[in-house]
Amino acid sequence: MIGIIGSGIAGLSAALRLRSLGYEVTVFEAHTGPGGKLDEISQDGYRFDLGPSLFTMPQYIDELFELFDENPRDHFNYLKKETLCNYFWTDGTRFQTPADKEEFITSFSTSFKENPAKVRQFLEDNSLKYELTAPLFLGRSLHRLKTYLNRITVKAIAKIYRLDLFKSLYSTLQSYFENPKSLQFFSRHATYNGSSPYQTPGIMSLIPHLEMHFGTYYPEGGMRSITESLYQLAIRHDVQFHFDEKVTRIDLHKGKVIGLSTAKGSYPFDIVVSNMDVVPTYRKLLTSIKAPEKTLAQERSSSALIFYWGIRKTFKELDLHNIFFSDSYQEEFNCIFEKKTLSEDPTVYVNISSKHTPSDAPEGGENWFVMINAPGNYGQNWEELIDLSRERILNKLSLLLGVNIKELIETEFVWDPRGIEAKTDSFLGALYGAASNDRMAAFLRHPNRAPQISNLYFCGGSVHPGGGIPLCVQSGKIVSELINEDYPK
Ligand SMILES: Cc1cc2nc3c(=O)[nH]c(=O)nc-3n(C[C@H](O)[C@H](O)[C@H](O)COP(=O)(O)OP(=O)(O)OC[C@H]3O[C@@H](n4cnc5c(N)ncnc54)[C@H](O)[C@@H]3O)c2cc1C
Repeated sequence: MIGIIGSGIAGLSAALRLRSLGYEVTVFEAHTGPGGKLDEISQDGYRFDLGPSLFTMPQYIDELFELFDENPRDHFNYLKKETLCNYFWTDGTRFQTPADKEEFITSFSTSFKENPAKVRQFLEDNSLKYELTAPLFLGRSLHRLKTYLNRITVKAIAKIYRLDLFKSLYSTLQSYFENPKSLQFFSRHATYNGSSPYQTPGIMSLIPHLEMHFGTYYPEGGMRSITESLYQLAIRHDVQFHFDEKVTRIDLHKGKVIGLSTAKGSYPFDIVVSNMDVVPTYRKLLTSIKAPEKTLAQERSSSALIFYWGIRKTFKELDLHNIFFSDSYQEEFNCIFEKKTLSEDPTVYVNISSKHTPSDAPEGGENWFVMINAPGNYGQNWEELIDLSRERILNKLSLLLGVNIKELIETEFVWDPRGIEAKTDSFLGALYGAASNDRMAAFLRHPNRAPQISNLYFCGGSVHPGGGIPLCVQSGKIVSELINEDYPK
């Protein structure tokens, strides 16, 4: 019997994979429903996805249905986006990113006066980085010898010089592009795992490959339908859920896990998987053992400040994903990672799911998810920072869209790093666990099995392979394969 702590996307993925292998699985969730960060809120006739808004690699979700011989299309649907994102700069430049590769190369090189051959070379180099590393990092534990004893690893090591591990993403981009706007455009992808383009290694240029090669998608009914459809799948296949039941201790005996305790009682388990952030798992549930301090001390990824605004107007120039760039990008990351404050000129991301799901907003309105990257919660004066940022964001959006946005706000909800930390117990409110501001970050993440306890496993954004929906789903896969190897059914 396996107990899972947390029903975030990684916990759901692990539960489904383990169930499909024949294990009895029980999930304990502190909240009243599943999903963790992948949740939703509704207010005054508007519905908002609470956390993630960008959906890539939908095949990982489909695979979970296929494990049970179910057709994913009977339960979960999505559309492929033809435009990836609309970009706005304060000098009036606008760029709509075509999903089609050839169209992108033409449009990008024309708009930003870049050499089309260089743009193509960049995309091809990103593709190579992905092909060399994805089979190694995304689907396997990095802490099993056999991961390294194969052809894939040998090939990756032979071509290590192509991975740009020893320079930053920003310097890597400088070898392809000249226009500061092109550099900013591709630097932004570092934020997809909560890192700084000026620190994260150049290998991260494989992130645009995920968008541009595999595409970006919109799940019918919004991001929350990912959670809902996987939860229903789990229910159909007899995964047990205990909601509103926070785990307070992982019970140990002679160095092995024997079960879990909550305020309602103790439950025996042969194996436990923690989908909870690894830092609070050690600090709160495993207080009697020595924690891996070096791993837990790794720098955390960025957090976020989000305004959920019900807007009483529709905007033709906006799409599902929209970016309003900062004029001082480097300073923005300096604020987040060094000064631990909010930038005076932040890049603003506006996501509008009502573009595809009209019922998410009343007729004639739009549901705006307005997010800026933020430092973790280090006890800053958040009330003051939020008030200042709200005005700055409103001024920026009003200027660039030529309308007074403040006057259009019908309803508002605010989520900040404190709230993110409180809702999901994510250490410091980090969106993606540890940051990747270090070339060794991929190897330094906490492993998927506890080093000192043989029947305790970890999945989710704070452990290998990392944060974001696709990687979290893959962590559930890795954990299920490790358990199946260690304790075959
Ligand atoms: C604002 C925001 C925007 C984001 N944007 C994107 C995006 O566009 N695309 C993308 O791919 N990713 C995005 N992410 C990141 C993505 O949401 C996460 O990486 C992913 O959802 C994390 O899933 P998880 O399973 O690791 O953990 P979580 O979602 O954090 O789930 C952990 C679960 O464990 C539960 N739990 C914690 N402690 C206990 C306990 N003691 N007992 C029982 N249960 C417990 C929590 O309640 C929670 O339900 C975003 C995140 C945020 C917050």
